Amino acid sequence: MIPSVMPTYARFDVVFERGEGPWLYAADGRRFLDFAAGIAVCALGHCHPHLVAALKAQAEKLWHCSNLYRIAGQERVSARLAAKTFADTMFFGNSGAEANECAIKIARRYQFDNGRPERYRIVVMSTAFHGRTLATVAAGDQAKGKHGFGPETEGFDRVAFGDLDAAKEAVGPETAAILLEPVQGEGGMRAADFAYLRALRALADENDILLMFDEVQCGMGRTGKLFAHEWSGVTPDVMSIAKGLGGGFPVGACLATERAAKAMTPGSHGSTFGGNPLAMAAADAVLDVIEDPAFLPRVNQVAEILRAALAERVVRFPHLFEEVRGLGLMAGLKCRVTNTDLVNRLFEEGLLSVSAGDNTLRFVPPLIIEKEHVEAAMAILDRVCETWKDTQ
Ligand SMILES: *Cc1c(COP(=O)(O)O)cnc(C)c1O
Repeated sequence: MIPSVMPTYARFDVVFERGEGPWLYAADGRRFLDFAAGIAVCALGHCHPHLVAALKAQAEKLWHCSNLYRIAGQERVSARLAAKTFADTMFFGNSGAEANECAIKIARRYQFDNGRPERYRIVVMSTAFHGRTLATVAAGDQAKGKHGFGPETEGFDRVAFGDLDAAKEAVGPETAAILLEPVQGEGGMRAADFAYLRALRALADENDILLMFDEVQCGMGRTGKLFAHEWSGVTPDVMSIAKGLGGGFPVGACLATERAAKAMTPGSHGSTFGGNPLAMAAADAVLDVIEDPAFLPRVNQVAEILRAALAERVVRFPHLFEEVRGLGLMAGLKCRVTNTDLVNRLFEEGLLSVSAGDNTLRFVPPLIIEKEHVEAAMAILDRVCETWKDTQ
């Protein structure tokens, strides 16, 4: 008999009851060190006091209000994000997929508005992940998300991630935009070359197409900059964000320049729940914490500690690991044994991690972790690695 929860996930047999910082407590008494963070969502850990207070205060005033009316929280959060980024304007939704849907629509509408409706295609990357709506599944390169869901949404041309010549070749008279993750998460924790991102910027400019970054996972301080593209010095025309934005409250946003979004006029797009007062209170509180001038330097410090520790394990356990991947606290270990076996063993020992594509083990801990948490995680990783032969 099918379970009442549609079985679209192969779930771990655990129910978490309570969280505190980087720790999760299960109903059966087990405690876990959370280096998964709801897949890079709980950027400030669990039950951060500032977020709890902000959400409680908002919950007692107003939960929801339609986008038919002005929403003070949206005006505040958008002004704060605009001040810190390339963006002039942004649309609030509830998820990463919706943020990318908005990006895709902006690209088509931009070209349409400029008198070139034939330009609707988007150049996308191998091993990309952009969400699970029909359009974002088509934009992504995950076979399991497409199987049996055809016909596939039209309008995406895939090239190899990192291959500039392939991107140049793919840009044609029908191209509207290029969409990619500056650091691929799901696809295997691969950071794009900064020179490659700069060259894509030039390619977009030469052809009057939009450069769109999906920073749903790598944004909001995850890599040690507020947004991952800042490392490259390149700015996009459009950027989708979500995961860390609400610190665990569902919220996403699509940021854009005025030039890119000028055709997004009243009635062109919308969302019932998007950017409601609760979501905006959460995002505003996350920004309070991340914008503290001491916050990102600390993320970089602890990221360096984690990455050095992981590099050490690659040397010590060469039969298990090939290399360290990713950027900042978006860290991956490319595995020589099955990544999901490692995730399962780490889970049994009390450390949460996530598998990613290309047989990669992913660590995306809360950004508030400290050296002692890295050490605790490495102690568990060592225990699993040292006994690996026995367990297989
Ligand atoms: C998680 C993710 C998405 C999808 O976000 P949802 O909130 O699950 O829709 C899109 N792009 C990237 C890069 C992601 O990591």
